[in-house]
This record gives sequence, C-alpha cells and structure tokens, in this order.
Amino acid sequence: MRDIALRLPERLLPWYAANARDLPWRRDREPYHVLLSEIMLQQTRVEAVKAYYIRFLEALQTVYDLTNAGEQLLLKLWKGLGYYSRVRNLQKAAQAVVALGHFPDSAEDLQKLPGIGPYTAGAVASLCFERPTPAVDGNVLRVMTRLAAIETPINDTGLRRDITAALASAYPAGHCGDFTQALMELGATVCVPNGAPDCERCPVGDLCASKDGAWRHIPVRPAKKARRQELRSVLILRCGEKIALQKRPDRGLLAGLWEMPNRLGRTGVPGALEWARSLGAQPMELVRTVTRRHIFTHVEWELEGYEILCARQAEGLVYKTAAEAALPTAFRILLDQ
Ligand code: SF4
Repeated sequence: MRDIALRLPERLLPWYAANARDLPWRRDREPYHVLLSEIMLQQTRVEAVKAYYIRFLEALQTVYDLTNAGEQLLLKLWKGLGYYSRVRNLQKAAQAVVALGHFPDSAEDLQKLPGIGPYTAGAVASLCFERPTPAVDGNVLRVMTRLAAIETPINDTGLRRDITAALASAYPAGHCGDFTQALMELGATVCVPNGAPDCERCPVGDLCASKDGAWRHIPVRPAKKARRQELRSVLILRCGEKIALQKRPDRGLLAGLWEMPNRLGRTGVPGALEWARSLGAQPMELVRTVTRRHIFTHVEWELEGYEILCARQAEGLVYKTAAEAALPTAFRILLDQ
C-alpha cells in the first residue's frame, strides 16, 4: 500500500491540474469557505451543494457573521440539506474559532472544534494550511482499496488507519492541498462509486491491481443492518392557516427542530380526535388522513397524519404557518397535498 501511495503524487498532480472541475468552493482556500463546503458535502451530492454553498456565503459572508446568525436563518439556509446538527455544529465551531482568535491550522487542533472529525480536519489542514494530512472518506477508501486490491471490509478501522498512514507518508511538500483534491477528484469522477470506473482514462491505472475487473467486488461492503421500522401517528391541528407545533428534544434525531405532535403506533381517527381534545384543542372536523414514509439512515418512519380543523389553539403548543416553521422534511411531507 505504501509503495503505491508514494507513486501517486507524480501522476495525480498533473492530471488534477488538467482535469479539475470548476467548483465554487475551489476558487479560494479560505478556511471558513473550505470548512463550510466540506460539512455540506458530507451527506449531499456535489451538484446539489453548489447553490446552497453560494446562498449561505451570500447571507453569512464571514465566520463572524455565522457566529451571530439566528437559528431560524441557519435552518432556512440549510433547509433541504437535512442533518441539521451539521449546521448547528458548524456555528459552534465558528464560535470556537472566534474565541480562539484564529483558525486552528493542524488536523489535531481542528478536531477539537465541535462537529469536526478526522476526515474534515485532514481536508481543512491540507487544503488551507498545506499540512500533510490525508482526508480519508468513502471516495479515497474506494480508490486505495481498488489500487491495492484489498478485500478487507471498508468499515474496518485498521484499514482506514493503514490507508491514512500510507497516504500521509506520500504527501508532497508544497502540494498537500492539491494532492487531497486530486484524490477526491479521482474518486468522484473516474473511480466512481456507482457503475463502472473509467479505467481507460485513469491516471493511476498502471499501478492498479483491480483494473481488470476486481473493482466489481472492491471495496468490500459490510453487510447492511436492517433499518428499524416505526409506525407513528401525527396530529396536524389546524387553526386557520396555522398548525400546532412543538420543539423536538435537544438531542437525537432532528434535535431541536419543529414537529407536529406525534407518537408511536396507530391511533386511528377516534383516537386522534381524543388525543387532540386531551391537548386542549377543540376538534371540529377531520379534514383528511394522510400516509407518508420517511427514511433516515437507521430508522424508517411510516407516518399516519390526521389533519383536524380546530376551534381553538391548544395551550402548550406553538402555532405557525408551515412556511414560518422551517419544518424538517419528515414532517413537511405530511402537508403536501
Ligand atoms: S484503474 Fe480503474 S479501478 Fe483502478 S483506480 Fe483507476 S479507475 Fe479505479
């Protein structure tokens, strides 16, 4: 592995210089910009991130602006990207940077910021501060395991450690950022995750032990755990244009976001009306029932919504229009007709 890693820079750097895609976050190496893009890209496709990235920086141009931004603005700018804990942690990281008075310039110190793991720390340290710190994500794991035809399951921590160490020894002084980018680019555009890799066009094909077809079963993926299934009943208590909302707990799934009252299990219509009464709403009419499915990483919600027109607002709940609330997708889909 180390032998292969050492031969990568001389091939990848010229290839990257000639083939790099023009992406908005590659136009400078400002740490705030790079960190924002890396956090956005964690769970979202490049094409989808472009518009979000530009809009976010138009609204919050500096790390100081992010520090002072209100939660509703943050959620609005992040709406549609999902995993809202990412933007909350990003703001906490910005606050820590401002308190420090500077951006940490090593992967070790970057990892002390909230929400920043080894991958993001390696990316920011190499891209912004020319540190020889690999950013090993799924793309890089795929490229490296294919190059060396390694059949160890991709989630093996020893494998990740070995690949990180091999790459760290190969980082070329003065080109650390470009080497990180080149590895990412190879995984995103040539040695792709879905479909056949473009081995004909691959700048490191001559080093690769998988190009004759072993790429079909490498990387080896761990057996998937089945997602937990949950059936949930949801009350859509409507008073005029507004619906009843509450905040989710500060920790866990969709932490701190708005939701409609909901509970595990199927209540049925009589149960939903009874539940609405118990909350203090005066149900007048069941407008409709609606079923939707929402899939998270580890759990799948089967949602059954009961839209009920009410004569008065229930105490203890907050009433907002759907547009005001920045509801997460899992609940917003219940409002779609
Ligand atoms: S030769 Fe093919 S399988 Fe090997 S690294 Fe290049 S694209 Fe991936």
